[in-house]
Amino acid sequence: MNDQQLLRYSRHILLDEIDIPGQERLLAAHALVIGSGGLGSPVALYLASAGIGKITLVDDDTVDLTNLQRQIMHTTQRVGMLKVASGREAMTQINPDVDVVTVAERVSEAQLAALVQGASVVLDCSDNFATRHAVNRACVHHGVPLVSGAAIRFDGQISVFDTRRKNAPCYACLFPPDQQFEEVQCSTMGVFSPLVGIIGTMQAAEALKLVAQVGEPLIGRLQILDARRMEWTTIQFQRNSACPVCGGTHL
Ligand SMILES: [Zn+2]
Repeated sequence: MNDQQLLRYSRHILLDEIDIPGQERLLAAHALVIGSGGLGSPVALYLASAGIGKITLVDDDTVDLTNLQRQIMHTTQRVGMLKVASGREAMTQINPDVDVVTVAERVSEAQLAALVQGASVVLDCSDNFATRHAVNRACVHHGVPLVSGAAIRFDGQISVFDTRRKNAPCYACLFPPDQQFEEVQCSTMGVFSPLVGIIGTMQAAEALKLVAQVGEPLIGRLQILDARRMEWTTIQFQRNSACPVCGGTHL
């Protein structure tokens, strides 16, 4: 780290749990962020400010006026711009040292596998089950930890999946792909503005902890928030030996 970096990251370095080795791990890391909307905004801003060396943003959408109520890395001036380009501007304004890679596409399964393979950690900030399951499959296959968040109306949830750990469950152990879940999206259902900030910020925290090797990750625990009552519920869950993604003897 140079003198500027020692200053920029001094409040991390002052933390015994992070110190210089932890900050070096953050600087050397590559985070893959799927989605640049409500969850992706705080995720991208915190990962950039905290000094994750390389951040890849994936989103094929453009900034719309209806996004600005909650997608805090976009601005009124950038309405109409690709979300990943708007995100890169916001991130580099905070921290010009971060290498931001943008992918303005709805990525195929093959593209996703290639992106996941090069990442230290993946943050799922998408808004649909098909993407979540595709991201999970790629993460399990390539042994990359996944921080998954979701937020709709006043309800949020977050968990971490890291099948490199013995007996740690994957996303599909918790939400079996063959089961039908009610698909609700912000575009039709509405979402309480700071809810995505709460969940997204927690996703960023879990990703930074994983990379810097701090504390205990949220593995095997699903945290559910009811923001109406500001009440958290924790659900413990285990690997499903019959899981079509991580089950069997290959792990
Ligand atoms: Zn599984």
